[in-house]
Amino acid sequence: MTDQHPKGGPHITQERRLLTSIPGPRSLELADRKARAVASGVAVGLPVQVVAAGGGIIVDADGNQLIDLGSGIAVTSVGNSAPRVVDAVSRQLAAFTHTCFMVTPYEGYVALAEKLNELTPGTHEKRSALFNSGAEAVENAVKIARSATGRQGVVVFDHAYHGRTNLTMAMTAKNMPYKTGFGPFASEVYRAPLSYPFRDGGRSGGEAARDAIDQIEKQVGAENLAAVVVEPIQGEGGFIVPAEGFLPALVSWCRANGVVFVADEVQTGFARTGELFACEHEGVVPDLIVTAKGIAGGLPLAAVTGRAEIMDAAHPGGLGGTYGGNPLACAAALAVVETIEAEGLVDRARDIGKTMLERLTALQEKDPRIGEVRGRGAMVAVELVRPGSTEPDADLTRRVAAGASAKGMVVLTCGTYGNVLRFLPPLSMPDHLLDEALDLLAATFQES
Ligand SMILES: *Cc1c(COP(=O)(O)O)cnc(C)c1O
Repeated sequence: MTDQHPKGGPHITQERRLLTSIPGPRSLELADRKARAVASGVAVGLPVQVVAAGGGIIVDADGNQLIDLGSGIAVTSVGNSAPRVVDAVSRQLAAFTHTCFMVTPYEGYVALAEKLNELTPGTHEKRSALFNSGAEAVENAVKIARSATGRQGVVVFDHAYHGRTNLTMAMTAKNMPYKTGFGPFASEVYRAPLSYPFRDGGRSGGEAARDAIDQIEKQVGAENLAAVVVEPIQGEGGFIVPAEGFLPALVSWCRANGVVFVADEVQTGFARTGELFACEHEGVVPDLIVTAKGIAGGLPLAAVTGRAEIMDAAHPGGLGGTYGGNPLACAAALAVVETIEAEGLVDRARDIGKTMLERLTALQEKDPRIGEVRGRGAMVAVELVRPGSTEPDADLTRRVAAGASAKGMVVLTCGTYGNVLRFLPPLSMPDHLLDEALDLLAATFQES
């Protein structure tokens, strides 16, 4: 309901409801104000004015209730305004809001670092450092790797997305909209080919890794290379799951050559893929792991966690920031970890994934425009193509996304070619809403 202070979280009735067209009149009013007040570079996917959210539902100012298949880009995995998060942040809010950890520390930061050290892959001794955004944490992982190796080069991959700051723009592959006009970019960033089974003729992971390593050795040289940075499943690039063996081969090469292997798990981390971290699907133990998005239920927080000897290489005072590891965000993150454990959300992500893969694969069998259904856990996508080919169909992708919005669903697109629909439902999504969303999606495909 939309009174003056609508309550989010589990208070919201878990049903889709359309009272107006989407976006409705109040949402359109906000869109109008937005156009006059907010820089146009900050674009909006679906201009509904959100007043509350929780479970699997987003409520707008016109009283519509939409099914959330995006989680604010894989952020609210535990649900919006999840009860443990609300309690923990409220208690922290009443105690103190900020001191700057580098000025006078507090327990939440240290407790979260302990948790991250314990939960991330590998049993080696670890350290963590906290930041505000995924991009900031990726930048810091590079700083740390350079410090530890005394080398400068950074290898990233085709279709990679690592953020919008200067260094992470250089690391990101896609020109439009992320880079165009924003250069010059940071130097010493090199791009290697990725394993992309749908588009590389199904090369094995080992073969794809050999190609990448060959290119790295010829064009950069291990002796110049501080870090290899890779998303275990690419996010913005199109939910690309590399062929089995690709990541382990890269890790072995890095280890043999003194190169820091950095897993960017900003989108894949915290139960999203049906493991706590996506690296675990192939037993990959990264030297450094970067986390953000799902870490704190929507509060801005990011982390770099990794081998103590690498993390401790940066000199005292070399890492940090005014807000990094803000006490409210740390309280939220600790409550997120508690929620994942208490509610069995790793298993829940697997169940959601099973349902989505089954239903979308059945849809693919009837619709040759769905070139591939892929993903792990509650991180699933369909890549849309012209029937019988791998030629991307971005127009169809836009039409299906628009059709889905009109039916009261929030869906996201992605992919280098703009032809991927991605599904990242909150893990608090009840089954009946997930089923309804998949029914509606099938209907949308028929109409598009
Ligand atoms: C979103 C994302 C980032 C950037 O995170 P921000 O918090 O938006 O700066 C980096 N890497 C990956 C894989 C992401 O999905």
